[in-house]
Amino acid sequence: MNERQAIILGTGPAGLTAAIYAARANLNPLVIEGNEPGGQLTLTTEIENFPGFPEGIMGPDLMENMRKQAERFGAEFLFGIATSVDLTHRPFRVTVNETDEFYAQALIISTGASAKMLGIPGETEALGHGVSTCATCDGFFFRDKKIVVVGGGDSAMEEATFLTKFASEVTIVHRRNALRASKVMQDRAHNNPKIKWVMNHTPIAVKSEDNHVVGLEVRDNESGTTRLLEAEGVFVAIGHQPNTAFLNGQVEIDKVGYIITNPYNTATSVEGVFACGDVMDSRYRQAITAAGTGCRASMDLEKYLEGSFVHDWSMTGR
Ligand code: NAP
Repeated sequence: MNERQAIILGTGPAGLTAAIYAARANLNPLVIEGNEPGGQLTLTTEIENFPGFPEGIMGPDLMENMRKQAERFGAEFLFGIATSVDLTHRPFRVTVNETDEFYAQALIISTGASAKMLGIPGETEALGHGVSTCATCDGFFFRDKKIVVVGGGDSAMEEATFLTKFASEVTIVHRRNALRASKVMQDRAHNNPKIKWVMNHTPIAVKSEDNHVVGLEVRDNESGTTRLLEAEGVFVAIGHQPNTAFLNGQVEIDKVGYIITNPYNTATSVEGVFACGDVMDSRYRQAITAAGTGCRASMDLEKYLEGSFVHDWSMTGR
């Protein structure tokens, strides 16, 4: 039986920080890389707010450095995706790529969250050819072009405001008349002369010609009429979905799908299973906060393996 003391699922800043700490604690963790090795930061360009890099650092470089640091202390990496788990008894079973089984006395889940898509015709085919979920990554390619941003939350406001640095015009399309975004983010977008608004409209199709996006077709929710908003870029900013489906309900999650952790530590509803990073954090979602929770998860796991972790939810009122 392929059994380890610790398995870590995911290689974003949370998983890699957990791996560094677990490896330095001589736990020889097995780290399952996931479907986006390095996590969302590998899709970004320069990171200017990760402490310790006064000149900034490229996202992929930061993740590569974290990985090398974990490897240096003995973390073992496996390219693959955790497709299912059995957490009913220890050692926990982790199935990778639906066939390979690994066992662990304790587990850290740091599988992150993925951008939600609209699920409309033309969208998937145009990903990378005009459709994007990351303004920071792709905004640069839309210099002096028209862009549509879909969504009414903080992400949409932030992305639209950021994109005005490049675009000739940014149109925010939202499916309701009221925005979900915080007042300060709304105000910032409203005060930006390059941003236009198409409220109470539902996106129905991404239109492309010769493999290039030419616009977003929308339906007016009141009149039912449809029209094409001409744009060369469509940025989808409608939130993220935590990657927890593979857990199949064995760990307690909230109504959106984020893992619920004890507010005083990183314990989940299953003893010996800890969670960190975006898979349990819908609020901060920063590289540095993810790394911080990764450190906490690894320290909790170490204590758990020593038999000194107190799995106590009573202070939370549960
Ligand atoms: P969000 O708050 O869940 O907003 C998602 C938006 O997308 C909503 O306006 C929603 O419409 C719309 N939407 C969802 N599914 C859609 C669909 N299928 N078709 C069309 N529209 C759809 O997500 P978020 O903006 O990513 O923010 C997530 C969390 O991160 C929030 O807590 C936010 O405050 C935080 N955040 C903070 C900052 C910041 O402060 N700098 C920046 C980004 C995010 P409805 O409103 O109709 O549901």
